[in-house]
Amino acid sequence: MQRLAIAIAGCGPAGLAAALLLHRDGHRITLFERFDAPRPVGSGLMIQPTGFAVLRELGLADDLLDHGARVDRLHGEAGSSGRIVLDVRYAALGRRAGFGIGVHRAALFSLLHRAVAVEGIAIETGCAVTGSEATAGGQRILLLQGGRRAGPFDLIVDALGTRTPLAPPCGRELAYGALWGTLDWPDAAGFDPTALEQRYRRASVMVGVLPVGRLPGTSRQQAALFWSLRADRLAEWHSAGLEAWKADVATLWPATQALLDQIRSADQLTFARYAHRTLATPAETGMIHIGDAWHSASPQLGQGANMALLDAYALALALRRSPDVATALTQAVVMRQRHVRVYQALTALFTPVYQSDSRLLPFLRDRIVGPLSKLWPATRIQAAMVSGLIGDPLGPLFGDQKSTLADSQSRRPS
Ligand SMILES: Cc1cc2nc3c(=O)[nH]c(=O)nc-3n(C[C@H](O)[C@H](O)[C@H](O)COP(=O)(O)OP(=O)(O)OC[C@H]3O[C@@H](n4cnc5c(N)ncnc54)[C@H](O)[C@@H]3O)c2cc1C
Repeated sequence: MQRLAIAIAGCGPAGLAAALLLHRDGHRITLFERFDAPRPVGSGLMIQPTGFAVLRELGLADDLLDHGARVDRLHGEAGSSGRIVLDVRYAALGRRAGFGIGVHRAALFSLLHRAVAVEGIAIETGCAVTGSEATAGGQRILLLQGGRRAGPFDLIVDALGTRTPLAPPCGRELAYGALWGTLDWPDAAGFDPTALEQRYRRASVMVGVLPVGRLPGTSRQQAALFWSLRADRLAEWHSAGLEAWKADVATLWPATQALLDQIRSADQLTFARYAHRTLATPAETGMIHIGDAWHSASPQLGQGANMALLDAYALALALRRSPDVATALTQAVVMRQRHVRVYQALTALFTPVYQSDSRLLPFLRDRIVGPLSKLWPATRIQAAMVSGLIGDPLGPLFGDQKSTLADSQSRRPS
């Protein structure tokens, strides 16, 4: 296809990855971001073998491994009984199994953003996108706060996240969100540095610890601590005071004391709220929605950033292979749709088991599902689910290269 003028709205993982891929394919890219200095929001996240495959194609795999923390298993216990209710090991997928990588959101952002800067891709910061307009010729204008108009562009890539103004509102805000904090990894506290660990009280209370490696330019290993909380109880949480909360967390999981001791102010914690939404029409004339702008969910299965990276890769492939923009957008959606549908459904199914006011679901989880999940083939299915591999997302994108990609991760030293 000819060289296109492309506006990419949003400097999250989806926007930055798309910018790199499309710039390298020779298109003329301008990124638009509302922040004055592009910056990541939030604490840690997990890159799965799916997202890793895209970062590897971008040449960022070694940097990610260097900054992130290798995660081999997910482990959860019901606090009071000590029953193991979540036990997922990537190794259950056999010889070709990959692993997760816990990474600070700022580290992932910095790797992608640095690559964008090195390649001289234009970023317009301090630009809040408010909408877009199709032109008679099938191009698009990007509308910015203050009445500014940018373009026309042959293509707008909407990577503005879950509250994008470029798509009609859909879906729903979830009742539960979580408080997140990034703290120094406490070596002597007994946490497994290769595991995402969680403790639950029914489904309404959950605390988790995820190793997230180190920030660029530092050597201190860090952990993300998260605490499930209903959005409508946030004010109550603030007024009860930090010490009451710390006592509650330490009662549920005494080992967290070494992390709680590092928290001296509520400002060290950020409340993240989640929405479950999937756009019915992810592509329209001259515009495609990718990442959270297309589909967002609670982070229970830890797939959002990975899916955003896969969407960006699918778009680049489709533009390479198609004669025109309209065909490319249809192809990009086709390559991703099945995986998106599967994971949106799986996340909707599993979220209430770990984050809800239900008493029945956690009862069944602790006594039936937890024990059964330790038996084959549940062990393998769970590992595939957490790896992001259900629905074969890599097939349409990497075809025969799939095994090479899996090998590239599994050969890494532990
Ligand atoms: C607490 C939490 C934990 C998570 N854990 C995981 C995990 O373990 N694994 C995982 O894969 N995913 C996880 N996710 C989900 C993941 O963070 C998202 O799926 C991912 O960030 C989506 O990337 P994106 O680029 O589509 O959107 P975003 O990361 O939301 O980026 C959107 C960008 O657009 C900019 N923007 C927004 N509106 C405007 C506007 N109007 N004008 C201009 N710029 C704008 C924003 O500033 C931002 O830079 C988690 C999410 C949360 C909240």
